[in-house]
Amino acid sequence: MDFNDTNEEASWRSEVRDFLEKEYPQELRRGGRNEGGEGEGLFRSREANTGGIMKRWRSTLASRGWVAPAWPKEYGGAGLDTKRQFIMNEEFAEFGAQNVGGFGVMMFGPTLIVHGTDEQKKEHLPGILNGEVQWCQGWSEPNAGSDVASVQTRAVRDGDDYVVNGQKIWTTGAQFADMMYMLARTDPDAPKHRGISYFMLDMHAPGVTVRPLITMAGSATFNEVFFENVRVPARNRLGEENRGWYIGTTTLDFERSSIGSAVGIRKQLEGLIRFAKEHPAVTVGAGKQSVQAALADRWIEALVAKMMSYRVVSMQSAGLIPNHEASMCKLFTSEMGQRIAALGLKMTGLYGMVTGGPGEYAAAGRYGVGYVAAVSSTIAGGTSEIQRNIMAQRGLGLPRD
Ligand SMILES: Cc1cc2nc3c(=O)[nH]c(=O)nc-3n(C[C@H](O)[C@H](O)[C@H](O)COP(=O)(O)OP(=O)(O)OC[C@H]3O[C@@H](n4cnc5c(N)ncnc54)[C@H](O)[C@@H]3O)c2cc1C
Repeated sequence: MDFNDTNEEASWRSEVRDFLEKEYPQELRRGGRNEGGEGEGLFRSREANTGGIMKRWRSTLASRGWVAPAWPKEYGGAGLDTKRQFIMNEEFAEFGAQNVGGFGVMMFGPTLIVHGTDEQKKEHLPGILNGEVQWCQGWSEPNAGSDVASVQTRAVRDGDDYVVNGQKIWTTGAQFADMMYMLARTDPDAPKHRGISYFMLDMHAPGVTVRPLITMAGSATFNEVFFENVRVPARNRLGEENRGWYIGTTTLDFERSSIGSAVGIRKQLEGLIRFAKEHPAVTVGAGKQSVQAALADRWIEALVAKMMSYRVVSMQSAGLIPNHEASMCKLFTSEMGQRIAALGLKMTGLYGMVTGGPGEYAAAGRYGVGYVAAVSSTIAGGTSEIQRNIMAQRGLGLPRD
């Protein structure tokens, strides 16, 4: 495989890069060293996403259809093919530019475009694009995580509505969300995959309670969400009743395909290498030889991760759906991210734990916080064990039991 850009791809890359150089708001640039985008718009409030500087950035992107580059043009996107999206993601990560997408743009919108009625698209797509409506994903429950098809939240038809009772957990950004796309059980007697429906639920409806969960990194990124007799209009069901599982797999495909590039992680590593050069005393303290060897190992891994993500993208470009290949990529990059965070902590020691005060590294508290924050990456979006199961069974053809 030739990993170099074709002429056309190279000119697209320059177009994206020039655009960022020229248009990315100065206020969002961090001291000229953009080491990876933040937050991806997943858990910002509507105000934070649509007010102030983000409003300007959003409308700059919108003027090119770049809020939702993957969506077809007729729905307000840019209709980019997989390779162009990938290059765009790479350049955004390279630049450290913030994305304004979130769950609505990345996962729910594309699912709605495939499975929604014209009325549903008209009602929900504009709010996703202009950022006025924030979405969250209500799949996991206390007894349904890796095995999402075990969801027990019930939706019972009552006239023109469904009445929803139950609980979701680990719902990222629920405290800011206006709407949730969610799976609920509509037929408890059917085999588990065949008794689930897919709904759009108003988070401001009576009976919805959101309780933030504080992670050990000190932030409340996800939540418990409780439903007590929440009425969801039947017109907010996506697809047929009891076929929700199969629509959910479309959403999952979009989640997998948004794996994007390994650039963000490589940028963290570049930051560590620079730190090692700028602070030889600290690095020596941590054991010069072992730090140098570890940095070299991590660098090789970052290149491997890049090749893996290229493989996923080249399959998508050829119209194939990456399966164990996407699992391999997710597993490797998330575990690599943890190794880099651990190395960062080892190298920066107490210095890296400081979360306030002057100094580029200290002020960010980057490595201390990064170390604990990285733990969740091998759980979110499918745990490492589940990825290994997929690789073993679908990649290596090993038996399930
Ligand atoms: C940062 C973060 C954000 C999240 N955001 C969301 C969100 O927005 N919306 C949402 O719906 N969910 C979200 N989740 C939930 C996430 O999808 C689940 O945590 C994940 O799927 C694992 O499910 P679980 O926590 O119930 O663990 P379980 O499935 O109970 O697993 C417990 C342990 O058993 C192992 N295990 C389970 N099954 C098997 C098996 N078959 N073979 C081998 N080992 C197995 C797992 O690997 C794990 O180690 C988020 C999670 C995190 C960490």
